[in-house]
Amino acid sequence: MNGILTETFYIKTMGCQMNVYDSDYLAQRLMAMGMSPVDNAREADVVLLNTCTVRAKPEHKAATYIGRISQIKKRKPNLIFGVLGCLAQQEGPEILKRFPAIDFVAGPRQIQDVIDILTRVAKGERGIVATALKAPPPEAKILDGYYEGKVTAFITIMQGCDNFCTYCIVPYVRGREASRPPFEILEEARSLVDQGVKEITLLGQNVNSYRWATDGSYWDFPSLLREVSRIPGLKRLRFTTSHPKDVSPQLIACFGELDNLCPHIHLPFQAGSNRVLKMMNRKYTREEYLGLVDRLRQIRPDIALSSDVMVGFPGETKQDFEMTLDLIKTVEFDSLFSFKYSDRKGTLAASFEGKVPEEEKSERLCILQEIQKQITLKKNRALEGKTVEVLVEVRSAKGDKLSGRTPTNKIVNFRPESKILGNIVKVKINKAYQNSLLGELLR
Ligand code: SAM
Ligand code: SF4
Repeated sequence: MNGILTETFYIKTMGCQMNVYDSDYLAQRLMAMGMSPVDNAREADVVLLNTCTVRAKPEHKAATYIGRISQIKKRKPNLIFGVLGCLAQQEGPEILKRFPAIDFVAGPRQIQDVIDILTRVAKGERGIVATALKAPPPEAKILDGYYEGKVTAFITIMQGCDNFCTYCIVPYVRGREASRPPFEILEEARSLVDQGVKEITLLGQNVNSYRWATDGSYWDFPSLLREVSRIPGLKRLRFTTSHPKDVSPQLIACFGELDNLCPHIHLPFQAGSNRVLKMMNRKYTREEYLGLVDRLRQIRPDIALSSDVMVGFPGETKQDFEMTLDLIKTVEFDSLFSFKYSDRKGTLAASFEGKVPEEEKSERLCILQEIQKQITLKKNRALEGKTVEVLVEVRSAKGDKLSGRTPTNKIVNFRPESKILGNIVKVKINKAYQNSLLGELLR
């Protein structure tokens, strides 16, 4: 029996990849204490919900899920229920008042204290609010066997953000930037590869501003990337998310030099008009962004580009929006995540005048997404008849297909063949769809 006096846990993860990493971190700590994960919240003694608050939509999703667990707790009063992540940080005690079924809340910078909190809850303590924005990030020791059978894994290399884009809640809920020591990251990456992981994605809200300095040694993001890429057995290396202002010539050079660095970069541009970029405090211009795209394509002509964009930022005019559309048509992104701007409590933009009506935002989003749909489909169709390299990641739920990704991050589905999970195979693309490609395995 462990200190929490319970046997099983279930973690529901919402939001970004950093939350996925934090949930895996916690799962490993709980398993190291002798607890077992279960597939379903109804069967668990402890339920943890890891939340997101970057836009209004994930917040509503979290509230619905909390409602569901509250119902389960009525029938199972000994269930321990904790809410973690950015919504927990943002709402703190408020969320406890609104949902009495929650036993504790802990923000993203408190993840290493959750075990301790669970022990206190097991002893009868309730209403714990852990939201101090602590640094540094926790050391992550990989549990023996946790990643066995997994092909891909994330490593969070830095936490928080110092950029304060005027629309964004992240600096408030994840705190100031704090990088992890490079030696710890390298050790973690080696352990993952030892367990059979073939692809690692380095994570940070602003991953390319990674910095570590100790006596006599200085590491920036390109130097870390180079060192990780040298790990024997690591077939693919990716990173996300990069801020355009921190894409250095050294980082661009990595795409020309590191064999296992995948030719794909996620580079959010947010808006195509310099006026809006300035109001957003993004610290680059449209021209600078396009210059970066050119330099990346010069060094790696096959590089895939994905991005984030927002419509309906306060004060965004029809002309500003046209500039965004123009940038999308100019760059021709491989894929694009597009959002309607939503006010986040406490951010500067929430107090800006000139709010764009909801209907107008929806209309702009629709126009933008239709244009991008055509671009994505055109890019995917260009692969029909071609042979691509796929790292085989998963078998479909029905077991009738295997699925993996190309170096450029496109999803490819094809008929299964035994024992090829985790291998890089050649697949001929027969049909292109909006979000994936269908192919046949070449022998
Ligand atoms: N750090 C990354 C960056 O600088 O691009 C992304 C962080 S954020 C978690 C992911 C995306 O959510 C952003 O790129 C932005 O497009 C979107 N986003 C952030 N705040 C938003 C808001 N208030 N309304 C709508 N979308 C938002
Ligand atoms: Fe938010 Fe801007 Fe930081 Fe990205 S860079 S997390 S958008 S404040």
